[in-house]
Amino acid sequence: MIVYSPNMLKTFEKCSKMYFFKYVKNLSMPVNDEIFETGKNIHAMASYYLNRENIDRFEDALSEKENSLWQNLKNNEYFSYECLKTEYNLTVKIDEYYFGGRLDALVKSDNDYIILDYKTGSAPKDAVYDYQTMVYLLAVSELFSTCNVIFVYIDLKNKKNTEINLSESLKQEYKTRLKTIADKISKENYSASKDNCKLCEYGKICYDKILD
Ligand code: SF4
Repeated sequence: MIVYSPNMLKTFEKCSKMYFFKYVKNLSMPVNDEIFETGKNIHAMASYYLNRENIDRFEDALSEKENSLWQNLKNNEYFSYECLKTEYNLTVKIDEYYFGGRLDALVKSDNDYIILDYKTGSAPKDAVYDYQTMVYLLAVSELFSTCNVIFVYIDLKNKKNTEINLSESLKQEYKTRLKTIADKISKENYSASKDNCKLCEYGKICYDKILD
């Protein structure tokens, strides 16, 4: 059974051949270690903190840049809300397809379930229709049988929150969009779209790469 993650859907939208390399052939290419490590450390700190563990020693081990991002997150208004889950895996079924991922944290305020997503890099440009927004909002809505769900991107560099409130109409639209892309993936012959070749991590092994 395939569970489509937001990253799988985003990759397919960029180039279906990229999707083929990454998720059909499972080829991993080297990543930028510094960005990856910073994100990993901040997410770990957040999870310990929300689960009320003693983080004093971990805070001392952070680099100056990491500590600045971490302080921004710790002082974010949503971090004072009741925490229900951290690093939580969830899935949602739409027609015959499954979608899922791991949310950073789920907090609650009165009747609202609030999904938190920490961004050490940039937040999505079109946050309302980002696949992560759609999948997680639908999954939490199904889990608690409510439409009172909010997704919050926390941009740690710019100290900015972007909130998306789920509604019945948005829910229907999200289901249609997710089903549409899953239909495409299931029928795809992995042709190259070539719009993202310049930044593609598979450029060295892809015969379809557009040369400059
Ligand atoms: S190099 Fe271009 S065509 Fe090949 S996988 Fe990457 S984006 Fe797609």
